[in-house]
Amino acid sequence: MDWYQFKLCLIKVGKMKASTEILRHHHLRATPIRVKILEIFNQADRALSNEDIESHFKSLDRITLYRTLKSFEEKGIIHKILNSGPAPLYAICADGCSVHQHKDHHGHFHCMDCGKTFCLDDVLVPDIKIPEGFTIEQNHLVMEGTCPKCNE
Ligand SMILES: [Zn+2]
Ligand SMILES: [Zn+2]
Ligand SMILES: [Zn+2]
Repeated sequence: MDWYQFKLCLIKVGKMKASTEILRHHHLRATPIRVKILEIFNQADRALSNEDIESHFKSLDRITLYRTLKSFEEKGIIHKILNSGPAPLYAICADGCSVHQHKDHHGHFHCMDCGKTFCLDDVLVPDIKIPEGFTIEQNHLVMEGTCPKCNE
């Protein structure tokens, strides 16, 4: 094994640990399938659909995937992103999300060229005033346009 391969291995081991630690932190048992799905989220630079995740597996039971994503969402590991497409998208949460307490008040950007959706962690959803009698449960900010890569 040369130095480069060795380094790659170290990075892999580091990430594995991070994933199992995240699961432990959120009180989920680190089953191989959970670790692998969390890995995929950790390495992704954009929001993922069920199909994106399935593409990393030779075969993955849809119900298992559905349940895994649901438990991740409930525990505050990933958040769902509102989008105009047919399939829901998910992205990894920043620190501080927990059971039934998501703190992802950031905007999302959907690129109309490549179809990728990104978390814009530094763009905060503004507080908006609405007429009396209405209660806001969720306030989403989704922008559409062209991402930096497609703008090159
Ligand atoms: Zn969250
Ligand atoms: Zn793009
Ligand atoms: Zn997000």
